[in-house]
Amino acid sequence: MKIKNYINGKFEDPIHGAYINNYIPSKGEIYGQIPNSSKEDVEKAVQAAEKAFPIWSNTTLEERSKIVLKIADLILEKLDFLAAAESKDNGKPISLAKTVDIPRAASNFRFFANAITQFASESHESVGLNAVNFTLRQPLGVVGCISPWNLPLYLFTWKIAPAIAVGNCVVAKPSEITPMTAFLLSEICDEAGLPKGVLNIVHGLGISTGQAIVAHPKIKAISFTGGTKTGAHIARIAAPMFKKLSLELGGKNPNIIFADCDYENMLATTVRSSFANQGQICLCGSRILVEEKIYEQFKKDFTKKVANLKVGNPSDSTTNIGALVSKQHLEKVKSYIDNAEEYGGKILFGGKEVHVKNYENGYYLQPTIIEVSDNNCKLNQEEIFGPVVTIMSFKTDEEALQLANDVKYGLSATLWTNNLNRTMQFSKQLQTGIVWVNTWMLRDLRTPFGGAKESGVGREGGFEALRFFTEPKNICIEYE
Ligand code: NAD
Repeated sequence: MKIKNYINGKFEDPIHGAYINNYIPSKGEIYGQIPNSSKEDVEKAVQAAEKAFPIWSNTTLEERSKIVLKIADLILEKLDFLAAAESKDNGKPISLAKTVDIPRAASNFRFFANAITQFASESHESVGLNAVNFTLRQPLGVVGCISPWNLPLYLFTWKIAPAIAVGNCVVAKPSEITPMTAFLLSEICDEAGLPKGVLNIVHGLGISTGQAIVAHPKIKAISFTGGTKTGAHIARIAAPMFKKLSLELGGKNPNIIFADCDYENMLATTVRSSFANQGQICLCGSRILVEEKIYEQFKKDFTKKVANLKVGNPSDSTTNIGALVSKQHLEKVKSYIDNAEEYGGKILFGGKEVHVKNYENGYYLQPTIIEVSDNNCKLNQEEIFGPVVTIMSFKTDEEALQLANDVKYGLSATLWTNNLNRTMQFSKQLQTGIVWVNTWMLRDLRTPFGGAKESGVGREGGFEALRFFTEPKNICIEYE
């Protein structure tokens, strides 16, 4: 299968005719070819977006909302088809694609189609000065959206939906590793009647296509989700042009477990927060910190549950853990496992590649639990982003908090306790953008989403996203 760019409402080959291969991780086979787009392709997309902007930004809220809702409806209509494509492209279990990834992509459009009708700006009466102030929030123009491979359509649409709903025109690039559902989305947008040029999707490598988007002077803002190193690189390019940036980056999230928690709920959720999507979710609780009192019991119970997870072909509905996204990524994750001792850990469970019958060339790994004793070790400081968790014990609240905060990342934290005072103290003092208490990855789309420290800059979600994609302008009127 050869997919195409979507520029100005047309499906196009890249200008220089260059393509790159895309793989099926569960089989290690070629899925298809995707355009290796150049800066000329990006230029064409920017021109199309610029041309579409005056009309799209002046389209009534009702009309825009209607089109965006139609996109949501079409995604749900094609849920099974999109989920199958996502699972094949990414290696994630089909059950996850069907229940999380694709429904959430539809919700992203539905949520922002409604949110724009509620998005109000402030007004201020300057009493005694006979003046009124109001704030216009105007769309920026052409914006760039760049997304990663772990939740392909979910995160691609999390950016595109608010950007177009609030009146911008978009040049977007999905990950070159998982481009398929973005391509299918372009067909859906076409079918939904999104005017040409409002959404332009340019496929290709980060270093060429992605960088051309970031460096383009007419692109006013970049919404990026991906690795911390890439985020820093993008910030360096964008800064001299004073572009607005939203950077959603890596994580090394603590999962803090106290003895007074609801143990069974904690255990089941911890299996999920450790290994969902093969541990390739930026929000996974990859550092498990357990109160000493229940540490040995937890180790036993957790290992037993993890041993029951089925690693296998992602298209099988009973599979819990599918394939890692690429050979290169498998090698990266394995290097942490292979060097576990040197990096400060002891493997308690897993650590081996899995050979799945009839899928021998796929990229499968056992879920892996590594015990560590020093939080400063490499295994606890670096983002592994695979089916690997570390566990260690703590004695006091102070120690747990210190361990939780002692990393350069600050995306999310999960806390398991039934103590209200502890809940409040940790919620206030954890240096993360998100704190889940007695749950994990429960998302209300109205809430701000994003990380502190090296996990990012800015917030997405709810009105935060609409604020990011608009420029506030103060209008001050004096009267007699
Ligand atoms: P990545 O940084 O390698 O790539 C992300 C996207 O950026 C891809 O589309 C890629 O092509 C593009 N890109 C790469 N180099 C670029 C450049 N120089 N200029 C412009 N674009 C460029 O990340 P990845 O490996 O695809 O994703 C995994 C990372 O994403 C992990 O670190 C994970 O924690 C992070 N992530 C963060 C969140 C969050 O919300 N904070 C969510 C999901 C994933």
